[in-house]
Amino acid sequence: MLLTTTSVVIYSCKKNREASITELNTQLLNESRTYFQSIILKQIALNDNNIRHSIEKMPLWDKAFVKKISVGNAVIVPIKYKNDILLRPQDSDNNIIIGKTSYLIIFKDQNKSWCAEWVTLIPMANKIKGKFVGIVNIEDWNGQFKRAYAVGENGGIKNIYKDESFIFKKINYASTTCIRIDHYSGVGVDGYMQYTYLGSETFCFGGGNGGGNTDNAPDLDNNGGTSGGGEPNDYTSMYDCNNDLNGSARIENCGCIGGNTGIQSCADITDKIKNKCLDSVWIKVKDTLNNKIAKILNNTFNTSDKINFKIVDGNIDGGYAAKTEVVTDKVNSDGIHVFDVKVTLNKNTLPSASQEFIATTMVHEIMHAYFDSQKTYYTQQFQQHRNMAENYIDDLKNAVQAIYSSLDDKAAYALILNGFGDIFKNDLTYWNSLVSKYDLDNAQIINIRDSYKSHNSGTKTACSQ
Ligand SMILES: [Zn+2]
Repeated sequence: MLLTTTSVVIYSCKKNREASITELNTQLLNESRTYFQSIILKQIALNDNNIRHSIEKMPLWDKAFVKKISVGNAVIVPIKYKNDILLRPQDSDNNIIIGKTSYLIIFKDQNKSWCAEWVTLIPMANKIKGKFVGIVNIEDWNGQFKRAYAVGENGGIKNIYKDESFIFKKINYASTTCIRIDHYSGVGVDGYMQYTYLGSETFCFGGGNGGGNTDNAPDLDNNGGTSGGGEPNDYTSMYDCNNDLNGSARIENCGCIGGNTGIQSCADITDKIKNKCLDSVWIKVKDTLNNKIAKILNNTFNTSDKINFKIVDGNIDGGYAAKTEVVTDKVNSDGIHVFDVKVTLNKNTLPSASQEFIATTMVHEIMHAYFDSQKTYYTQQFQQHRNMAENYIDDLKNAVQAIYSSLDDKAAYALILNGFGDIFKNDLTYWNSLVSKYDLDNAQIINIRDSYKSHNSGTKTACSQ
């Protein structure tokens, strides 16, 4: 009886309460997303020559926000492109990253019909009094042209149309003014960008005469009724992925960074190990977190946006199992210190070793990367080995045993000590005290090393024969 009464009270409370702005926004976001996923994603792909249309893209729903436009509230959704190409207006050296300057907008038009539009803004000049100057290109999600505007320096707005006949061609019409937008891919190499021309697309003023494709001419009677969209000014606000007006945050693989996000670059532990046998061991090393070495890896390289760790496999001269090198260590022009360290695993020798041997190699290289990042005997291998031997032998052992519990202490110590060959060479006294501390001698270490390296002992990989 009491329960029933309580339910009724709660129900009537809810019923009488006005929905908050946040609730309305959440509802609009959810409805927009449902509309997009059930209707828009089923659009048939365009097969035109426009490289921009062919790039895989996805809306970032977790970055979506609500904005008021002329026909009501609209949902603005930043877009992540699989490959972020650059747009460059002809005779300009202004590179526009599409991931930063385009978005998905979803709203209900005057007829209460849902609209989803892919908006690409192409600034042609610096903003005048904070206002956008350039091309506003509005398409269906699949790239089908809907309409476009050119916003002039004086704030005047003209309809323009997409002229497919100009793609890949030079403009040679005196009667029609067209703007060619070139497409480039940009790859940063040692701080310099290398651009590769990919194609172009052209927008023309006027009604589509003069050799253009008249089918694509916009509806000049732009009262929003026939086009179904908002007014030109609804589209010209440049929001970054952090929702900041004219902000400079951008989408990278790790999410929205730069601008006011407080994140300058992607905090990365990147692994690009092609060999499956090495990669499967690396996944265990990286993800078995109940040990100090995995914690060192994650705390050093996965928490700072400026200190990055990369692990790959490749050729290494001299028969070494792996090597660690500092790739970047510099202060950028914006005062931010960037540090990148790369571990290379020997793809020719390491895959056929036992998993215990491979894992021991990996945790050893993690320590080199950590020392380099901390400027502890920076890039001095011998001194870093001494430091490992003095302070981290049990941590290294525990890290490998956390994955391979059947590895006994004696074998684990032997595999770890085997990595310190230059101590044996350069400081025999210290070496002898070290091996005796772990109740080993040189012959035992070599025997255990060879046995695990040839996978006679330990856990085989799929590459072991
Ligand atoms: Zn080493």
